[in-house]
Amino acid sequence: MNCDRCENPIAYTRKYSGEKLCSNCFSNSILRKTAKTISKYKMIQNDELVAVAVSGGKDSLALLKIMNQMAANHNFRIKAITIDEGIPGYRNEALDIVEDFCKELNVDFKVYSYKDLFELSLDEALDLRESEKTSSCSICGTLRRRAMEHAAKDIGANVIATGHNLDDTLQTFVINMLSGDTSKVGWMNPDTSGNTLRKIKPFCEIYESEIVFYAFTNDIPFQSEPCPHMNEGIRTEIREFLNSLENQHSGIKNNLYQSILKVSQVVKDSNQKQKGVCQKCGSECTGTTCSVCNMVLKLKENKT
Ligand code: SF4
Ligand SMILES: [Zn+2]
Ligand SMILES: [Zn+2]
Repeated sequence: MNCDRCENPIAYTRKYSGEKLCSNCFSNSILRKTAKTISKYKMIQNDELVAVAVSGGKDSLALLKIMNQMAANHNFRIKAITIDEGIPGYRNEALDIVEDFCKELNVDFKVYSYKDLFELSLDEALDLRESEKTSSCSICGTLRRRAMEHAAKDIGANVIATGHNLDDTLQTFVINMLSGDTSKVGWMNPDTSGNTLRKIKPFCEIYESEIVFYAFTNDIPFQSEPCPHMNEGIRTEIREFLNSLENQHSGIKNNLYQSILKVSQVVKDSNQKQKGVCQKCGSECTGTTCSVCNMVLKLKENKT
């Protein structure tokens, strides 16, 4: 059987829409969908420098390849930034993959480590936490947020692009709902055009399974070794639950995503009313001190 768009053999069937595509048309469809998301949510302005956060996983390397292709014929530039959390064994393999891939694409890249920025590697920070109830990923994610902001400022970028896909968005939404953290749903709205430092997720409307196929069919050399902390939180269980729902009811992830868009807009509008500025670092937050400053302060107090 041939591709719906050309004479080549089918390589991928998009179950939720019934489209059957060859490898080339599939890759083009991912490029076009990413470009459409970027323009729909005004993610990038003319002449901007975009910091592409690259971890060495399939999503971020696929994003780097696509953003690099887009930058060649659009009016924006990219540089890659990589955060080294200080996870022995895991991060070193990723750093080599990122370095080789950036060289292959001819993209500048720079590494920023937790140790340099916070005087703590992730493993040291985990030893300092008050209770195991605070998951490794919640500490790591908070520190990464600050590290990426620092990295973007350092290279002179106003925009940080991350490889989060549609599945990541759904999982984060369910985690926020299960933990009663409804105000965070407002931060999930993809339109961040009102912020000074914008975090954008150009893959937020693409299924994870499609990014996996894109990486595979484009020979992207991603890191296969998972982070040793990956299965500590609830995310893996939610991921499996959503995948099993999608298997039985194709398109259900797209439906949930559309609901998140509507809900996040309402919560964002209500957050806007309580918006303040962190007394320590000046970033926007809903209290007097932002969550990143709170966490770093607590960890450092435990150190002394
Ligand atoms: S899985 Fe968790 S601990 Fe590991 S790098 Fe990701 S956020 Fe950090
Ligand atoms: Zn085709
Ligand atoms: Zn702060």
